[in-house]
Amino acid sequence: FGALRDTDPEIADVVLGELDRLRGGLQLIASENLTSPAVLAALGSTLTNKYAEGYPGRRYYGGCQQVDRAEEIGIARARQLFGADHANLQPHSGANANLAAYAALVQPGDTVLAMDLPHGGHLTHGSRVNFSGKWFSTVGYPVRQDTELIDYDEVRDLALAHRPKMIICGATAYPRLIDFARFREVADEVEAYLMVDAAHFIGLVAGGAIPSPVPYADVVSCTTHKVLRGPRGGMILCRASLAERIDKAVFPFTQGGPLMHAVAAKAVALREAAQPEFATYAGQVVRNCQALATALATEGMRPVSGGTDTHLALLDLRGLDVTGREAERRCDAAGITLNKNAIPYDPQKPMVASGIRVGTPSVTTQGMTEPEMGRIAELISAAVRADPAAPGGADTLTRVAGEVSELVRRFPAYPRG
Ligand code: PLP
Repeated sequence: FGALRDTDPEIADVVLGELDRLRGGLQLIASENLTSPAVLAALGSTLTNKYAEGYPGRRYYGGCQQVDRAEEIGIARARQLFGADHANLQPHSGANANLAAYAALVQPGDTVLAMDLPHGGHLTHGSRVNFSGKWFSTVGYPVRQDTELIDYDEVRDLALAHRPKMIICGATAYPRLIDFARFREVADEVEAYLMVDAAHFIGLVAGGAIPSPVPYADVVSCTTHKVLRGPRGGMILCRASLAERIDKAVFPFTQGGPLMHAVAAKAVALREAAQPEFATYAGQVVRNCQALATALATEGMRPVSGGTDTHLALLDLRGLDVTGREAERRCDAAGITLNKNAIPYDPQKPMVASGIRVGTPSVTTQGMTEPEMGRIAELISAAVRADPAAPGGADTLTRVAGEVSELVRRFPAYPRG
């Protein structure tokens, strides 16, 4: 860091400012986590210099002896941890992993069945502003209005009606377990590929906190930076029969040179995720989220689908008469970072939204447990109810910010020293 400070004080200031932000507030974005210093060290290493187009032992550049080792170690760890035939660690991000999965399994114009965006699906599951919606004919499945859960009979009806080439399950804002076996049955019935986008929950799978999609899916795509607590990036797991197609779809079809510092950092995270402490962590992430959702419910925020089985919860704020956008702003002013989120059948536009999404990966990494979740719910509730334009509102937000600081001081992110 000394070199950065000497060379570029402006950017050094940004880096320190971000560390202060992480240390000073509550990080409740469900898709974020706090990587270990070991992961950061691999990311900040000289491996960033190396061009390594291709795969270990089959590169288009010389000098790949060391990066080959990193990638081979990472692949072996991923296969072992998830019981997968094959792993590709090169996707630059989750969206890139999905692009490669589409490229390997379907042709432009083919029909793909995936979860509706407003019901929790991701942009890459068929949004009109994304390659998936532009190049493929996508059909969305909703959640039921009464239970806010996936209706597997409806998924089957849609599959029989539209005969998709690929079915995608996995989501950005679905708090419940997904029945991968049911999806497999439907996919088999219509002879479609089953792709599981495990971006959000692959870390819970790694820690054994939720069931694995690997035995059911043809391809599992994921990110490495959410619950899994690795560097920002993507990864693909697949059956042996699809290994060559997946590798070619990543490079050379959709990417050039891999980011070898990131590949090495993914290997480090996979090693960490294989330790018994990570299983304890993953279980605690879920228990914390359940405790948080329950406590938020008592504060008048309705958990969508009645609760959560995972690391994230979606809260309907209509009972408090506050929009998701306003709640996000007020929480931000109080040092609580979370995001507005559409709820199923949301009457508001996505940029306004009736809900918020909270996640427990970061606070659990910091060592917080159920009692702190109750406290966090009280702080969120106080912030969300404090209208800065009304008398006393701004004072309340200042008071909550002070209480947030006190709480996080006891559970520091990146403890000093
Ligand atoms: N798939 C799902 C389900 C996601 O939630 C996300 C990101 O949040 C992605 C894919 C894309 O990941 P990235 O932002 O790394 O491209």
